[in-house]
Amino acid sequence: MSGADDRRHVVVVGAGPAGLAAAVAARARGARVTLLDASDELGGQYWRHLPESRPAARERILHHGWDAFTAMRARLAADDGCEIVTGAQVWAIERPSADAGPVDDATPGDHAAATADGTAPAAVVHVLVGQVDGSRRVPLTLRPDALVLATGAHDRTLPFPGWDLPGVFTAGAAQALAKGERVAIGDRVIVAGAGPFLLPVAVSLVRARARVVGIHEAARVPSLARGWLRDPLGLARAPHKAAELAGYVSVLARERIGYSTGSAVVAAHGTDRVEAVTVQRLDATWAPIPGTERRIEVDAVCVGHGFTPRLELPIAAGCRIGSDRFVEVDADQGAGPAGVFAAGEITGIGGVDQALAEGEVAGHCAAGGFPSDPAVAPAVRRRAVAHDVAGRIEAAHGIRPGWTGWLRDDTLACRCEEVPVGRIRATTRAARSTDLRSMKLATRAGLGICQGRVCGRTVEQLLAAEAPACGSAPRESAAPAPAGSDRRPIASPVRLGELAAAYDLRDAGPPSLAATAPGADDPPRADDPPRAADPPPAATPPRDPAPPTTPAPARTTDRKDLP
Ligand SMILES: Cc1cc2nc3c(=O)[nH]c(=O)nc-3n(C[C@H](O)[C@H](O)[C@H](O)COP(=O)(O)OP(=O)(O)OC[C@H]3O[C@@H](n4cnc5c(N)ncnc54)[C@H](O)[C@@H]3O)c2cc1C
Repeated sequence: MSGADDRRHVVVVGAGPAGLAAAVAARARGARVTLLDASDELGGQYWRHLPESRPAARERILHHGWDAFTAMRARLAADDGCEIVTGAQVWAIERPSADAGPVDDATPGDHAAATADGTAPAAVVHVLVGQVDGSRRVPLTLRPDALVLATGAHDRTLPFPGWDLPGVFTAGAAQALAKGERVAIGDRVIVAGAGPFLLPVAVSLVRARARVVGIHEAARVPSLARGWLRDPLGLARAPHKAAELAGYVSVLARERIGYSTGSAVVAAHGTDRVEAVTVQRLDATWAPIPGTERRIEVDAVCVGHGFTPRLELPIAAGCRIGSDRFVEVDADQGAGPAGVFAAGEITGIGGVDQALAEGEVAGHCAAGGFPSDPAVAPAVRRRAVAHDVAGRIEAAHGIRPGWTGWLRDDTLACRCEEVPVGRIRATTRAARSTDLRSMKLATRAGLGICQGRVCGRTVEQLLAAEAPACGSAPRESAAPAPAGSDRRPIASPVRLGELAAAYDLRDAGPPSLAATAPGADDPPRADDPPRAADPPPAATPPRDPAPPTTPAPARTTDRKDLP
């Protein structure tokens, strides 16, 4: 950072609805903002779209709130006070040491060694910028006055026999392919799982020209009624949700797509890929009811049981994690450590409305404002409504424990390491322990490429279910450590060569993001000149030489305050 800029520096991680709203609000209050996202495009999961180089005419039809998104994107892109860095993977966050005082020895690659007023930063944010599969990502280290974490969630999918067959997709993956690539996961698709998200996914599949043979919601009618219809007046405060629902229902009716409640896909069948599924009725605990099995021919399965917040960075930053395994926030979206804020799906699953409202409050407060300020009063009100909706979603569709009844001993719990459920159960009983770490080391469950993102919560639940059989104390079984399987100090894969190169660059001088431009992907040579005097670098190498469309995408070449 240039020493001349004494504005408060806010770093926002994640450019989904929450992060975008946070960046806009922080800028509105005068902070200097750096907005980081691992993706090439802004918008997060909700506004996942075709790349700027291949724009779609129908984006507005395919996305709710598309105009709001493009307005935020254009505003930030045109704003000199906002640095947008796409292709920016935050792979680690360090907490500032308690005795960290003013920092004045800017290290190469360290673009904000000191905060605006020379005090200790909120966190030390380690970033790698560039193509994930490229050989030369560029390291950045940021030390902002305030940090807004808005890293969203990933799919939660309960395993079932055959879920490892090709043709079985998570609901989020099916949605991402349909929205981001206009690709349907199959011709004849069954949609199953739990939660309102199944509806937009089914509609997206229809728009991508798949035949959706049915939607199977695990929750039963009494549970749906208890969740959604309690306090109907409260629900009336979110009339746009009813309009959105009506839109989905009209598509389902037009396409004659059935919606079954208290029903689940409990097995997928096929040799080289999925050819059929078994659906079965569930009781109130989601245990399958014997004798209700039905076989349905399909060539693809789309299954999702909600979302798991991405907690790696919040845990690393020292945020409070509640017993419900979301980041706990105060009225100002403060997440525990001074200067660290959280917004969006990492604080609870409440959809885009919650993400936008929380993001706005978080950005405003990270920039020095207060939740009581008139500027964010509408956002605070919208946040309350969204939290009410989030509570209804959990009450209606939250995972019930009986689902383990559809598992067989040979069902894979961890697909990466191919660990079957039976091995986890047998190991627990043999060791008379339900300790998560011991289980990982003994079976390798959760040690594969996804690092437990897909199976972590499942393994925890299997361990909890085994507790009585192996004599574990109830406390151990019922209340996993707050971080549980979500603790990953290194949040994304980093090559050893990248780490080594980062240290080399520190010796030689600041790295240049321009080094990641196409054609500059060769490994650094020993006689490369020091890069301290490099011109302002490009934030992300353009992947396609096509000219940008209007409005301009995130700036990729005019970073102003990096060396
Ligand atoms: C696959 C998927 C698809 C979804 N599709 C829909 C949909 O179509 N409709 C709907 O209503 N809801 C959808 N949801 C739910 C949706 O996530 C929320 O409603 C909303 O997008 C949440 O906004 P957010 O800003 O909290 O998170 P997100 O929109 O998820 O944004 C988080 C952003 O953080 C970035 N990020 C995460 N970790 C890092 C890191 N370490 N470094 C840098 N960047 C990082 C991600 O790239 C992402 O852009 C989907 C969820 C998932 C998981």
